[in-house]
Amino acid sequence: MLQASSYWEEGTPISLDLLTQNDLFTKLRAQRQEYGRRNFTTELAKHLPARLVDHLATQFDLSGNLADWSDTRLQTLCDTLSNWEMIPTGTEGYRTAEVTLGGIDTDALSSKTMETKTTPGLYFIGEAVDVTGWLGGYNFQWAWSSAMATARHIAQTS
Ligand SMILES: Cc1cc2nc3c(=O)[nH]c(=O)nc-3n(C[C@H](O)[C@H](O)[C@H](O)COP(=O)(O)OP(=O)(O)OC[C@H]3O[C@@H](n4cnc5c(N)ncnc54)[C@H](O)[C@@H]3O)c2cc1C
Repeated sequence: MLQASSYWEEGTPISLDLLTQNDLFTKLRAQRQEYGRRNFTTELAKHLPARLVDHLATQFDLSGNLADWSDTRLQTLCDTLSNWEMIPTGTEGYRTAEVTLGGIDTDALSSKTMETKTTPGLYFIGEAVDVTGWLGGYNFQWAWSSAMATARHIAQTS
């Protein structure tokens, strides 16, 4: 989620495949043979988290026993879950952020030394620059590498 939030613009919907590699349609059809008299939501909760099933029940008509569900009705639900659209209410902000988007435009800097093109002796490195890596070490690497490039240049020129 943290990784995905770097790409998300507030207010825009995101689409999730809640059934990745889960052939729910085939599984529910098979269950229908044996457990047709059971409540549909009980059988659905064998494949999805119970809280998600509770939420789905507020959005869709999930009433009835599994035997009441035709192939068409099952397929419609599965299609919806494969392309689940939602608009997040927001991010958790700086409280949990690990990296920020934006910063000093890279076009303003030398890519070899991080020195600003307009003001000799002024450098920007790391998080201050408009460089955003995936989580998992790339941001540290960028901070250290850009710092090293700058430090070497300062050592060579002073
Ligand atoms: C919770 C968390 C987890 C993270 N996990 C990862 C991870 O697993 N892998 C990864 O690659 N990246 C991770 N990051 C991102 C990574 O920490 C940053 O990208 C990296 O530390 C940036 O280095 P930096 O030196 O540019 O900036 P910073 O590390 O932010 O250093 C800036 C320094 O400047 C000081 N400072 C600020 N203003 C002033 C001032 N006016 N005068 C003097 N000093 C000042 C600050 O106190 C700070 O010490 C994480 C970040 C957070 C917040």
